[in-house]
Amino acid sequence: MTHPFLDLAPLSAGRFAAIEDRVARLLGTGQDVVVMQGEALLPLEGAIRAAAGPGTVALNVVTGPYGQTFGNWLRECGATVHDLAVPFHAAVTAGQVREAFAAHPEIDFVSLVHAEAATGNTNPVGEIGEVVRAHGALFYLDAVASVGAEPVLPDAWGVDLCVIGAQKAMGGPAGVSAVSVSERAWARMAANPGAPRRSYLSLLDWKERWLDGGRKALPHAPAQLEMLALEACVERIEAEGPGTVRARHASAAAATRAGAVALGGLEPYVYEAKDAAPVATTLRTPPDVDASALVARALASDPALPLAAGSGALAGEMIRVNHYGRDATRGAVHGCLAALGAALVEKGLKADPEAARRAAEEAWDGTAGADLSGA
Ligand SMILES: *Cc1c(COP(=O)(O)O)cnc(C)c1O
Repeated sequence: MTHPFLDLAPLSAGRFAAIEDRVARLLGTGQDVVVMQGEALLPLEGAIRAAAGPGTVALNVVTGPYGQTFGNWLRECGATVHDLAVPFHAAVTAGQVREAFAAHPEIDFVSLVHAEAATGNTNPVGEIGEVVRAHGALFYLDAVASVGAEPVLPDAWGVDLCVIGAQKAMGGPAGVSAVSVSERAWARMAANPGAPRRSYLSLLDWKERWLDGGRKALPHAPAQLEMLALEACVERIEAEGPGTVRARHASAAAATRAGAVALGGLEPYVYEAKDAAPVATTLRTPPDVDASALVARALASDPALPLAAGSGALAGEMIRVNHYGRDATRGAVHGCLAALGAALVEKGLKADPEAARRAAEEAWDGTAGADLSGA
């Protein structure tokens, strides 16, 4: 008997290219899209190491843990880095980016995370993109947590390097990722003597050995399982409709936020709803309640709920409701609120799960079907 995972036919170059084209359509981009054989950290790191070097002056926007990682890579490449750190409960504004350019006109690279699943915020990339373009800097964007949940439009926003992964709102696998690369970005890499070559991290190798040859022959054996899964996940998004998928995420976020407020005890971690990411909602526990312990109690009632405590220093105070992909549903949101409510009550705290349920339902109804993006 043939095994569905093990006895796969080789993936042809044509099929690989077709999957890349499909991802490009999802992003509405005419740029080159390079699908990479690894988790999103691969193109995230590969793009920074390719584009940045000792001559680079970078503005690194930090709205969560990934921004911190990018700053470290940039410094390792020898770049001069100006960090623009924003409290995790807010988003960065285009005005703040404009001020950073005014203070450091030599900035020629900007790194930004679109939505942060780890902190629950999302940044206004369209507005920031206008400012970055006016200044002429190269624009690098981590859209891993936003793609699928909100519009990601590299061409319209002037993003030169836009990295996505399938494992969040796209509802796909974690082992494959992609980056769209503008002509400007390719030129920057080609002029960078420190850009990785003959390396697994190298985007220039892919350009030379795959794109420039007209995508006729793959340089390496493709990761078939992940490529097929990526294709299936894009197909599923196309079938449901990208706007419908985004609306489902927006509704899940609005419902979780409203439900948590009505529940009592927990507060939205991100102060303003407009700064809250559709991909995941973060909640703050009361000062005397440990978030990890509360999540553990909630998960004991149903281990399948998409709940997690914040990572690192946030583990004590932050709850993450990861309502993305298949969990961007009313059922997942109600399940999380009910389990968190029961866990609060068990701890002797006041919580009103019935009010939470009603508020979540109303918020979902109020946003249902609305693609709030307009895209
Ligand atoms: C999830 C995510 C990634 C991918 O990293 P993992 O640690 O593998 O989950 C990258 N960037 C952002 C903003 C993410 O939310």
